Amino acid sequence: MSEETTLEELLPVITDFNKHYYDSLEKGELVAKKCNDCDHSFLPAAKYCPNCLSENVDWKVLSGEGTVYSWVEYHRPYHEAFKDKVPYVVAIVELKEGPRLISNIIDYDLNTLKVGTQVEAVFTKGFSNFPMVNFREK
Ligand SMILES: [Zn+2]
Repeated sequence: MSEETTLEELLPVITDFNKHYYDSLEKGELVAKKCNDCDHSFLPAAKYCPNCLSENVDWKVLSGEGTVYSWVEYHRPYHEAFKDKVPYVVAIVELKEGPRLISNIIDYDLNTLKVGTQVEAVFTKGFSNFPMVNFREK
């Protein structure tokens, strides 16, 4: 990453497809698109189901529960603005409903954090008060 990259450039671009996702995070809900034809749940939101290509998809509120699929503890910050946050954990969380999210595990314990650890969603605010979902061990 260029040293000139600003945090604003790292924020997601809000579109008609993802606005409901971030509005829901603001309300403390985690949502995904769900196909009404094959029951596949997926993120990021799209017009078509990536499993069967149906357009018959709607938003669904998720449980916020998942398991750690993979994780790493950062000791060097990804961006200069995160230098006071190291060490921190970045993980791929597999949600109970199927989609996987890249997020942070907060309040973690290296003695218990492992692939397969059960986690739950925690709704937080990131840079510029942007709504985020993090996870913590259940
Ligand atoms: Zn489908």
